[in-house]
Amino acid sequence: MEFAFVSGNPALDLAGTVGSRRGEPVDLLSVPADLERWVAQCDELPAHVTVETAGFEAALALREAVYRLALDRLLGRSFAPGDLEIVNAAAAGPVPKVELGHAGLRISGDLPSVLSHLARSGIAALADPAACLKECGRPDCTRLYLDRSRGARRTWCGMDECGNRVKAAAYRARRRASATADGHG
Ligand SMILES: [Zn+2]
Repeated sequence: MEFAFVSGNPALDLAGTVGSRRGEPVDLLSVPADLERWVAQCDELPAHVTVETAGFEAALALREAVYRLALDRLLGRSFAPGDLEIVNAAAAGPVPKVELGHAGLRISGDLPSVLSHLARSGIAALADPAACLKECGRPDCTRLYLDRSRGARRTWCGMDECGNRVKAAAYRARRRASATADGHG
């Protein structure tokens, strides 16, 4: 399964592995192997990382702390000390090793280094007063993302993920409405 990396920040992408947060949440990371695949698909992280149960729990705790802090930022609330503690503790560790080779970039490291990189990315985004943090315009999505578009006019986390789905649903609704109006509905 392919994960979506559309938030403009890997920590927000991690938070986005839970969808429909206000309805019936859908968690794409249900076992440690899911996180291994997510890390492998993220451009900024090592291609191979081993995740065991304790590390998986730590990653989920970081994910939820990042989500709550981002939501606080979005709503103009102050950050909860417990969430700050989780993110800052994760960020204090060593980061993945980055090397340039003939084949290009090679990133390696263990899970704590991955969590450290994610925490630092989240901190950079949440500390940036110019960052335009938004929630996706499709109500069921609830993904948070950074809008870096000119004029900050982006409405969806991603066109494939949500924009096209909303437009297609609106189109179907219009067709139904006009069919009803014509007496064919
Ligand atoms: Zn969305």
